[in-house]
Amino acid sequence: MHISLQDLFEQIDGIGNGGELGYTRLAWTEEDAQLRAWFREQAELRGLLYEVDRAGNQWAWWGGRPTPEDPAITTGSHLDSVPGGGQFDGPLGVLSALAAIDLLRDQGFEPRHPIGIVNTSDEEGARFGIACFGTRVLTGVIDPDQALARADADGITLAEALDEHEIDTDDYGADPMLLKSIACHLELHVEQGYALGEIGSPIAVASHIWPHGRWEVRLQGESNHAGTTPMGRRCDPMNQLADLIVAVRESAVRHDAVATIGRLTVIPNGVNVIAAAVIASLDVRASHEDAVGAVLADLARFAPRRESWTASTYFDTSVSGIVSQAVSEEIGSVPPVLGTGAGHDAGVLQNAGVPTAMLFVRNTTGASHTPAEHADPEDCETGVVALAAALQTMDAGDE
Ligand SMILES: [Zn+2]
Repeated sequence: MHISLQDLFEQIDGIGNGGELGYTRLAWTEEDAQLRAWFREQAELRGLLYEVDRAGNQWAWWGGRPTPEDPAITTGSHLDSVPGGGQFDGPLGVLSALAAIDLLRDQGFEPRHPIGIVNTSDEEGARFGIACFGTRVLTGVIDPDQALARADADGITLAEALDEHEIDTDDYGADPMLLKSIACHLELHVEQGYALGEIGSPIAVASHIWPHGRWEVRLQGESNHAGTTPMGRRCDPMNQLADLIVAVRESAVRHDAVATIGRLTVIPNGVNVIAAAVIASLDVRASHEDAVGAVLADLARFAPRRESWTASTYFDTSVSGIVSQAVSEEIGSVPPVLGTGAGHDAGVLQNAGVPTAMLFVRNTTGASHTPAEHADPEDCETGVVALAAALQTMDAGDE
């Protein structure tokens, strides 16, 4: 097979491509169906054994289906996107995996253990509201019945959507046998940030996924007439909001965290009414849990109410070490180690006990979840070579 990575990108480029509006490839839609059909075709074209697991994730096995006795080395990522996303977030990992296998075959490499490529289903969670949906169901983090009952914005349930894509909902759920048949996993992903541009490296190995919490802040005021209430008599929650916004920014900068007020609910939200209350969302992430805690401590006077908390996920140090060694032999220097503030299927698999590592390919704009994200073709090629070298070394891992 001599299909370049660039050609692979061209083959799927027309799918969900809205031009300047970016790529919209939500899970279990017509666009997703086209991408899944393409993945299957690529697997069959290469003589790989194709199958769909109980959670709707697609797999292509080189060297046959793995078993717990002869577990596989797996790689891959996701083909779905956020609404108006970029070209690379997700597809780069799947397409690089296909290209890496082509490269290994061209080199005459024969794996001792099965090697698997995965296209995980609904990684972005843009349609049914749960990120890493496919791997969370696969690993049993989400109850399948609750998952199937979730509805999208049009009221279509996941069960109905899966039906349309010929996924057996009776069999939908966790697949512990498959997880036991994976020795280790490596996800390649476009960088979602600016670090590699600043460091000057085409590639990095991930250390961990940052801890991440969401809170809600309710700022209470008193509604009144915008024309007849003197300024001195007002109890306007917008003033508290202004204080909150400044405090969030200052605290995040002080503690080397990132904090975002991304959604506001104004009650009653009228142009001629002083607001009765404002409810602000607050998303805080940092490299370490102490930093997130310090930001929240700074904001204690606003009484934030916690909605969700995800602790740090550290990737497997031994797999990451093997990957780093293999990559450094290919690129001539030890790749930098980066944490990430974004969630990934790799983190879900690691938390489920699959030894997992990640590779990041430099993003020259640093932008993510927008068509502005970009990786240079040369860096993507370096990613393929690095991935191939890492898979080869992982395969030889227990020699
Ligand atoms: Zn992604």
